[in-house]
Amino acid sequence: MKIKAINGFKDILPEDIAIWRTIETVCRDIFARHAFREIRLPILEKTELFARSIGEATDIVEKEMYTFTDKKITMRPEATASLLRSFIEHGLHVSRPIQKLFTVGPMFRHERPQKGRLRQFHQIDAEVIGGSEPQIDAELMAMGQMMLNELGLDASLEINSLGCRECRPSFRSALVAFLDKSQDKLCDNCKRRSTTNPLRVLDCKKQSCRDLVADAPSILDHLCDECDTHFKQVQHYLDLFSVRYTLNHFMVRGLDYYCRTTFEFLTGDLGAQAAIGAGGRYDGLIEQLGGPPLPAVGFAMGIERLSLLLQNKADGVTPEPESDIFIAVLGERAEQTGSKLANALRAKGGRCGIDYSGRSLKAQMKIANRNRARLVLIIGEQELDKGEAILRDMQTQEQSSFTLKSNIAENCTELLKISANVLTTTEL
Ligand code: ATP
Ligand code: MG
Repeated sequence: MKIKAINGFKDILPEDIAIWRTIETVCRDIFARHAFREIRLPILEKTELFARSIGEATDIVEKEMYTFTDKKITMRPEATASLLRSFIEHGLHVSRPIQKLFTVGPMFRHERPQKGRLRQFHQIDAEVIGGSEPQIDAELMAMGQMMLNELGLDASLEINSLGCRECRPSFRSALVAFLDKSQDKLCDNCKRRSTTNPLRVLDCKKQSCRDLVADAPSILDHLCDECDTHFKQVQHYLDLFSVRYTLNHFMVRGLDYYCRTTFEFLTGDLGAQAAIGAGGRYDGLIEQLGGPPLPAVGFAMGIERLSLLLQNKADGVTPEPESDIFIAVLGERAEQTGSKLANALRAKGGRCGIDYSGRSLKAQMKIANRNRARLVLIIGEQELDKGEAILRDMQTQEQSSFTLKSNIAENCTELLKISANVLTTTEL
């Protein structure tokens, strides 16, 4: 019996890698331009960390976590909690007043797998710790937008403010009063949530609940002066940075730790999995986790969803050739020369392929083609006697004779020069 991967856990095959690398390269480059530094975090953390930060009455903590109950440890469902745990543990605030950090890696949530929704998925996560200025929120959204733009993806940005400890309770009571009147019309999930976590009813996906909450009070009418000013400033800076957005007062996000600004990047091209990236401000959380009272804001993008969008694009990502030069060898002596040359070429930075199974020239050319090699150096016994080989340009099909010098370094230099020329002419 064949053993298959676990449902919701997916292999990222060599064919997928070009897209994954493009996403990571573009994002890493943009992080560098914004002075973010990378941090790498463990996949397992104490369960308590997630319960305390994400919130007990959230979908993630209630039903989506992979927990080893006997050991009280959990596979991280998101990155913010782990990043903050590390930030606090190592006192990172001491070295710089504002820490801009990013991390990339797998997250685990026990959800129903479907297109763009997996049980192991990957996030690119960015956090700015130590500043409460609205400029920081706007800059972070502008950075997310820059990533999507540079990947050539269309997305809309929706923003909201969830208020703070001062003003949210009054909104919560107004909402609870509103929901109380229509309990019978809510779905079962929302009936329960209307007492445990009433804000979550606002972003229920069920149409009947959506229709009902259309008339619910808006958080934006309940913001205290400080939160209202902060949110207006965020919008002002988004305008200043030419980032387009719409207000969505139904967006509450599935994690309890958010306050003030929340935002989502959305696409119309992935069905129900519309969110490509999301985040918000979480002033107070670091203190709640036992750290200093520092404000912070962050967001995470889902790499699988970005990758699906790039796959669907006609002018998406072209995979890099696996080798610049393929060495086809015919006979044992040719194989000796060819293999030595291949390894010397690689040491000098050339991408080089070779096949040792003694296949026919035709079969070796097929392999070269699959490798998308631009040049093939054919070494046969007869040519070898004359100190020659045949060089074939795979694009133009032209063949020329290549003189094999006894000095291997000279051969390498010459071949790499020809290969670089071929590459530039093909690119033009
Ligand atoms: P959704 O509403 O789609 O469940 P979410 O609000 O749970 O998303 P976040 O916790 O904000 O998502 O995570 C940020 C991003 O991570 C999402 O915008 C999405 O791109 C990605 N993501 C979240 N859960 C999954 C998943 N199960 N599979 C693939 N990507 C995911
Ligand atoms: Mg979710």
